[in-house]
Order: sequence, then C-alpha cells, then structure tokens
Amino acid sequence: MLLCEDNIKTDKFISFEYLQVVVGHTHYPLLIYHPIFHSDHLPEDSLDQGERLEHLIEEVPFIYDAIQELGHNDSFLIKAENGRIYLPLVHDRDYIKSVKNMCQELQEHEHTENEGVFLSKNSYEMACYAVGATIQAADMAKHGRKSLALVRPPGHHAHPNKMGGFCIFNNIAIASEHLSQQGERVMIVDVDLHLGDGTLAYVEGKSNVFYFSISQKGLWPYHEPQDDMNTELIFLKEGIADYEYCKTLEERLLPAIERFRPDIIAVSAGFDTCGMDLLDYGEKLKGGFALSEKSYSHLWSLLDKTLIPYFAVLEGGYHPLSILSGVLSFLKREA
Ligand SMILES: [Zn+2]
Repeated sequence: MLLCEDNIKTDKFISFEYLQVVVGHTHYPLLIYHPIFHSDHLPEDSLDQGERLEHLIEEVPFIYDAIQELGHNDSFLIKAENGRIYLPLVHDRDYIKSVKNMCQELQEHEHTENEGVFLSKNSYEMACYAVGATIQAADMAKHGRKSLALVRPPGHHAHPNKMGGFCIFNNIAIASEHLSQQGERVMIVDVDLHLGDGTLAYVEGKSNVFYFSISQKGLWPYHEPQDDMNTELIFLKEGIADYEYCKTLEERLLPAIERFRPDIIAVSAGFDTCGMDLLDYGEKLKGGFALSEKSYSHLWSLLDKTLIPYFAVLEGGYHPLSILSGVLSFLKREA
C-alpha cells in the first residue's frame, strides 16, 4: 500500500513494542542518528532540507521518544559519532581541508555553493557525522546487527576530490573501504533513483568491492551501461512500479550476490524512487519511479534470506513521506 497523507497515523503501522515482539528484543533493526543532521540552514530551493528527517521524527512517536533519550544503551536508536578520521580512506586530504575551510568561513544562516552543492557553516561537521554513522553501521553489520544510518548529507555522488548532487563525503564508499581493509568482501547495493557516480569512481579497479546499482535510465548522472568486472549497472525506465522493480531485484540482485559472494552487503538506500517523490521531485528535476513501501520491504526481505550481514545508509528521498516509508519498511520487515 502506498503511504499517503491520509494514513500517516504511523502507530497504525508499527510500534516499538511490535518490533520487540516480532523480531526479538535483541535483534530488532537499529537506527543510527544525530540531531546535527538537521541543524543546517540551506536555501529554500535545495531539495536536501532538514525536514526530510524532522518529519520522520515528528510523525513516529516511538522514534520521537527514543530521540529524547538518545545514547541510552538499550535503545534501538544509536547516537552517531564524528567520523572525520575515516575521511582519508577515500578522499584527498586537500579536498577535505578545502571543504572544512569553505564551511568555517561562513556565518550562521549564510551559505555558499560548490559543484552545485549548497554548504552552510555546519555542513562539514554534519558530513563528518554522516560518515561516522555509516562506519558504525558497517561495524555493527560485522557483528551481526542490522542498522540503517539515518543521515544527511547523502554521499553516493561524492568523488574522492569533489562534491556533487547534495553529497560532500561518500559515506558508503568510506565504510566499504573501512571493511575492505579488514579483509571483507563488500557488495554495495545502490537502490537510489540516481546512479552513484562517486561510488562508481571509488570501486574502479578494486577486486574485493562490487557495485550493483538500479537507477533510472537517462537521469543525471547517467552513464552508458558498461558493466566492469566489479560493477553491474541496471537502468529502468521512468515511472515503473513495484511489480517490475521487485522482479528486477529477484532476477538481477540475487544472482549478482551469488556470483560475488560478499561477506557484507552495504546498501545505498535512496528513497527518491518512492511514488511520493515522483509527485514532488518530478516537478523540479524530472523523472522518478512510482514505488511503494512494498518494494523496500521486498529488498530487505531478499537480503535477509541471503543470511549475509548487511547495513544501509540513507541517500536520496526528498519528499518527507518517502523517507518515512523507507525507514518504516526497514524497521518492520519480516523477521
Ligand atoms: Zn537520488
């Protein structure tokens, strides 16, 4: 069922007690979050606004309650840590320094633009916490706990030496490199509407990291499909819905996992494929799929069946209901 404005009463969908009963007290999925993720001041025409996360917090009572006690040991909500020490795993030191300087020079409520990305005074700090949250998620996956790093800014368009598409540092690439340097074979599964060009640049030439992506054909930053030894890029047409999407997951993702045999799967979870984004976002940048929570639940359920540890990090999703739909699918999927 497509989540819509009318049935936004989220206690109808899920409660924390439900999670504990359904997936067991110690095995329910975790969220990794920090209030800094919506502390910036970007111009109104930026699609990556703090309200993407604020809406989720306001609408889901048990998430709101958990945030009041953020950092408590027995919560399903983990407080993100600053991940700046991990930035050089993927990014050039000069680039890291220049981002830091650009942000430090700004006053509160001021912003600047670089490579089409809006930056505010807090942007560097926020991006460091987004990296930290993703590293925490990766480490938890290693220990068998499933988690979703609920972060802003997203990361998959960030290259080693430049930002792009709302992304400053490449969260999923840094976490994958962190795992890879510990000898783990990592498969990145990118389900954002857009191709993760930054992640694609990161995986080039790596034998123990694989990049699997399903994105919209012809949408920025489109690349001609050129599968390499360690990439599989799938492009689907605008407007597709759950049936075709779920079929693609079964026919393409599962065999790719079987071939590469990863130790850990890292999901770039973009929810801009949601039908809600098609309404809102299509107006501004054109394009979109018409997926519902059903496709996201199907993804998590397929990954669960592989028995391979995995974690996820938020990428796109610009209508607040898209994020809500994606996050709830992660929390309440079948055990
Ligand atoms: Zn996207």
